[in-house]
Amino acid sequence: MSPSERISIAGAGPAGLTAAITLAHAGYPVVVHERQQDVGLRFCEDYQALENWTSEEDVLDTIRRLGIQTDFYYRPINRLSSYGPHSAAHVTVAEPHGYLIRRGCRSGSLDRALKHQALDLGVDVRFESALKETEADIVATGPRHACAIAVGCVFDTDVPECAAVWLDDRLAPKGYAYLLVADGRGTLATVLYDRFSEGKACLERTTRRVQDLLGLTMRNIQHFGGYGTFDLTRPLTHGRQRYVGEAAGLQDYLFGFGIRHAMVSGFLAGRSIIEGTDYDRLCRRELGRHLRTSLINRYVYEFMGQTGYDLLVRLSSRARNQRTFWSKIYTKPVLRMLLYPFALRAAQEKSRVSVQL
Ligand SMILES: Cc1cc2nc3c(=O)[nH]c(=O)nc-3n(C[C@H](O)[C@H](O)[C@H](O)COP(=O)(O)OP(=O)(O)OC[C@H]3O[C@@H](n4cnc5c(N)ncnc54)[C@H](O)[C@@H]3O)c2cc1C
Repeated sequence: MSPSERISIAGAGPAGLTAAITLAHAGYPVVVHERQQDVGLRFCEDYQALENWTSEEDVLDTIRRLGIQTDFYYRPINRLSSYGPHSAAHVTVAEPHGYLIRRGCRSGSLDRALKHQALDLGVDVRFESALKETEADIVATGPRHACAIAVGCVFDTDVPECAAVWLDDRLAPKGYAYLLVADGRGTLATVLYDRFSEGKACLERTTRRVQDLLGLTMRNIQHFGGYGTFDLTRPLTHGRQRYVGEAAGLQDYLFGFGIRHAMVSGFLAGRSIIEGTDYDRLCRRELGRHLRTSLINRYVYEFMGQTGYDLLVRLSSRARNQRTFWSKIYTKPVLRMLLYPFALRAAQEKSRVSVQL
């Protein structure tokens, strides 16, 4: 396509807006259609994390390399507490485990920063405008069905800045619960990969556990829920449509981190249009290994259960270098790759019964 042709993008999340910014930098006229009244309305000003352990490069540098300014609110997470059913570890590192960011439409959120970067480059962002997939060049419409769900709340609190995760099937079946606190605001959530109907009860149990353990105070509580899609087998292109972010199922299977994949795939979709290259191939080369190992990791994680969660907490706390420990989990030693066909079959069976929302 030449820069004179207008590119239509469905969805103004991180994937769609990154694609729009990439194309606008190259001089393409771009229209982004967003069915909601603003960006980020799928979220509720909750804290999320940009993970920073699966690559050598710092994730903020990766984002800058994609041509995106990091002019959104972020806080490095240098200290992480992890709790297994019978274990606890508190690890402080020099290079952040991740960055706490905000999602929503208000000032400082990732979504709003991306919207303004796109608008500044002349992108036409149209709200309350749903676009059919067949009319889009880039489909960035977010999750399709629930492979995992999150049930959580945001609140004001007096506890100091902290980041903590709980690996315990009683709080989050096959998933994890997390607490993120900064600047007097907190997010507490449980992420379930199984027994979705227990979400509310799991959040109540998690809240009690965290209050007992950390003396967490919570005021002005606002509840939220969400879901995520993972898919490794879906074609990333269909006719002229390129599927990016969660619309393509591009998300870390183990813990459901999707922001980085959304932005990288949005960037690659934009580049593939500019350079006339094969998006599917570009994307699988850049993200394929990570996605496959994350699928194996999920298979092993679910197989390990409670005893395994304790083992993971203890092993990670003893590791001399956290980044090396976690990045090793995301490389593909031959032995672990042997599990791939089993992991894929298990995921396919599960997605056949996953909830359509
Ligand atoms: C509660 C929760 C916590 C999370 N925490 C983390 C975390 O800590 N770290 C992390 O990396 N990931 C996290 N994720 C996942 C991450 O938020 C997503 O993977 C990421 O937002 C995906 O970006 P996206 O652009 O593909 O889709 P989205 O952010 O979902 O954006 C899609 C947009 O498309 C719009 N849309 C849909 N259909 C149409 C249409 N037909 N026409 C026009 N617009 C349309 C939607 O309204 C939406 O604005 C979390 C998810 C949830 C639910």
